[in-house]
Amino acid sequence: MRQTLVAGNWKLNGSLDSIKQLVSGILAGIGDTGDTAVAVCPPFVYIPLVSELLQGSKVALGSQDVSDQDSGAFTGEVSGPMLKEFGCRYAIVGHSERRALYAEDDEFTARKFAAARRAGLTPILCVGETLEEREQGITEDVVARQLDAVIELEGIGAIGDAVIAYEPVWAIGTGKTASPQQAQDVHAFIRGKLAGLDGGVAEKVQILYGGSVKGSNAAELFAMEDIDGGLIGGASLVADDFLAICRAG
Ligand code: PEP
Repeated sequence: MRQTLVAGNWKLNGSLDSIKQLVSGILAGIGDTGDTAVAVCPPFVYIPLVSELLQGSKVALGSQDVSDQDSGAFTGEVSGPMLKEFGCRYAIVGHSERRALYAEDDEFTARKFAAARRAGLTPILCVGETLEEREQGITEDVVARQLDAVIELEGIGAIGDAVIAYEPVWAIGTGKTASPQQAQDVHAFIRGKLAGLDGGVAEKVQILYGGSVKGSNAAELFAMEDIDGGLIGGASLVADDFLAICRAG
């Protein structure tokens, strides 16, 4: 039985004040989220603050990205060991905004996945198709290619220790959610593909859905057989909305 995980991706949002308020709102209601595992991924600069605020709670900390390098002359980068030192458990890699806006391709994403693992972080590997790719009927090809880049570099075993987030690009921040069946179809494809390589890994890996998840649609998405929780953008910025999603888990 896989545990449900709900992870909030705060993206480039927040200030000292708003983040303190958001964390205190989440902590005030976290007690009634049952067995659902919960994580938040603040912007890098707020990680030390949030790490301190979350001490002693069940809410885990993650980063929104990680350098493919561990140290050295790489201006502007933040490495896995640095994130680990500040209490991060997870690192998102290959978010569609990184892929589209910062030209991070499959191979680069795979190197970030490897860097996260080297540091003892659990990568949350984002995969998903654009609207154009869905309309062309190549959703599975795209997702398979994104997964293969990581499997080729790190091996299938590495996927078992990671989290996958299926995030159709057309559903991110658009208010358009994949229907539970549309999401389940891709999740089942992912698990089936992994099962072809290693049944144990396929059974174990958490596959989250991301794309306009809200309190009102989370329960029906999370009820699907191969959906093990959610990666949440916009709705993770309001404590009550985020908690409603966590409770749906
Ligand atoms: C995301 O960016 O990972 C995401 C799922 O965003 P939203 O929930 O706002 O669609």
